[in-house]
Amino acid sequence: MNRFSRRQMLRLSAAAAATPFLNAYGQGEGKRLGIAFLGLGDYATKQLAPAMKLVGNAKITGIVTGSPDKVPKWQEDYKIPDGNVYNYENFDSIKDNKEIDIVYVVTPTGLHAEYAIRAAQAGKHVICEKPMAPTVEDCTRMIDAAKKAGVTLQIGYRLHWDPFHLRLMEVIKTKEFGDWKSIETGNGYKVNNFTGHNAWRITKALGVAGALYDVGVYAVQGALYTAQVNPVSVTAKKSTDRPEIFTEVPETYEWTLEFPGGRKAEGFSSYGRSGNYVRAELEKGKIEISPAYGYGGQKGFTPAGPMVYPVVNQQALQIEGQVAAILAGKPSKVPGEMGRRDIRVINGIMEAADSGQAVKFGNFGY
Ligand code: NAD
Repeated sequence: MNRFSRRQMLRLSAAAAATPFLNAYGQGEGKRLGIAFLGLGDYATKQLAPAMKLVGNAKITGIVTGSPDKVPKWQEDYKIPDGNVYNYENFDSIKDNKEIDIVYVVTPTGLHAEYAIRAAQAGKHVICEKPMAPTVEDCTRMIDAAKKAGVTLQIGYRLHWDPFHLRLMEVIKTKEFGDWKSIETGNGYKVNNFTGHNAWRITKALGVAGALYDVGVYAVQGALYTAQVNPVSVTAKKSTDRPEIFTEVPETYEWTLEFPGGRKAEGFSSYGRSGNYVRAELEKGKIEISPAYGYGGQKGFTPAGPMVYPVVNQQALQIEGQVAAILAGKPSKVPGEMGRRDIRVINGIMEAADSGQAVKFGNFGY
């Protein structure tokens, strides 16, 4: 994803202003909130922090890390004072730091709950990366901690600020081309090497269910915001072609979500098979985004023709939108409750694949 100059960003903001679904909350009102990143791995270092240069209503004021070697570069790049550098042991004292309003949790999935809860207990708003946490119970503990502390909890679902996906949601909500009849979503690619810092992605404790959690959450999200209604049940199967690599988690999951009235969404996630799409059959034609889930490079069409949108920095728009919601005291469009619903669906897929039986969902509370 390319970085933008200020001028390019201004042009983009003009495009956003002319396109009401971009920047849904508008800019903050001059106030800039302080964000501390917790977990300075690939995504925080290469995507989120650089995107902060484009965010008008927040700035990086702190870091939380277990790797002292990463500190000098972050301090230099983002002018972070010594007093705003924390490790996982002294992190709770962040509660006394008035320059930090938000903690953005970017650790492996299995650690999200612990750090999000500690951040909330320290009185900080929380943005938590996807997928929210290993279990529905973890998600509930996170939601409860945020509520108790009077802070907000939002998930890093960047595609809710991507123009292609916003157009898809709009087409379904307005029924511009009629209601949807069927949905297909898939997200996967072949990974041969899980050594080094990627090892956590295929361990049960930290990555939880491999590709299903890491990339499958996009396919589940894609199905749910295309459906615009929650599923009633799921059937699923799992498979592993390379058992020598996938010793703890399956390589591939395939599922069928069933919605009220019997309509269906087929999905898959995999670290062994490629696919990157969301598509739906509508009463009056087809809609598709493929590739769908990257940081950019989306291509898509509606029954009216190709989707054409300016290149955006999804992470910048996401963070700016999330901060604007906090500043305005408005509900987030990607709240913890949405993250929990998605984990429930993912856990349903796992349960259905294990048992060979359909899993019924009941009320999601979102
Ligand atoms: P990464 O492995 O590059 O970084 C993880 C960071 O967590 C590292 O800095 C690591 O040192 C730290 N960490 C702290 N405790 C750890 C422990 N016990 N074991 C291992 N690492 C530990 O991973 P990443 O790609 O940066 O992913 C981090 C989070 O961001 C994940 O939740 C992932 O799903 C999410 N992510 C989101 C997107 C997106 O597009 N929204 C993209 C990539 C990653």
